[in-house]
Amino acid sequence: MTMAFEIFETRERALADNAAAAELTRANLRAHGARLVNLMGSPGAGKTSLLLRLIEALKPLRVGVMEADVDSDVDARTVARTGAKVIQLHTAGLCHMDADMTRRGLERLGLDGLDVVFLENIGNLVCPAEFEVGADLRLVVLSVPEGDDKPLKYPLMFRVADCLAVNKLDALPAFDFDLDALRARAAALRPEAPVFPLSAKTGEGVDALAGWLKARLGGEAT
Ligand code: MG
Ligand code: ZN
Repeated sequence: MTMAFEIFETRERALADNAAAAELTRANLRAHGARLVNLMGSPGAGKTSLLLRLIEALKPLRVGVMEADVDSDVDARTVARTGAKVIQLHTAGLCHMDADMTRRGLERLGLDGLDVVFLENIGNLVCPAEFEVGADLRLVVLSVPEGDDKPLKYPLMFRVADCLAVNKLDALPAFDFDLDALRARAAALRPEAPVFPLSAKTGEGVDALAGWLKARLGGEAT
């Protein structure tokens, strides 16, 4: 018997639309010779603090920033003080950035005069990992106080990470954080992703990450 209704795979369709929007962003980035980094991590991991360091350390690359938050403009204000081009995006409650929101954000920011744009995603280790936004690189920040077990609990985030920054290294003596265990757990999910222990507060370790990013982002856009 033929059924008289259609089964519409909404999730499949939404992901296909998302992939199409990400492709538009890639084309836009290529046209401008710019690169996009999707910066992800928990609230309080130190994404913004690390960005402040990277804006400086990545020079002469010209960095632009899209600060995505549910509300407020505190992060955009902080970044604006560095002189970097920045835009605050409000998701009005949504807990991640998708490709179309990112595409629109880049349009508003404008890519002229920029070599690298960082999208500071919503603080959350779950759904931002599910949505590709058209980025060239996914940089995940995990901080020492969050614990070394996070790759076990949020495997997708650590599977999509091209690079992992372990922030708040200065707080290591105060926490039972096993850096070797973290490395092993992250490597089990994404063996080729480098891990950079660092402190955005003191600056320790930031140059190593910046050097790696420069090598990955500084060349001709492909
Ligand atoms: Mg922030
Ligand atoms: Zn979400």
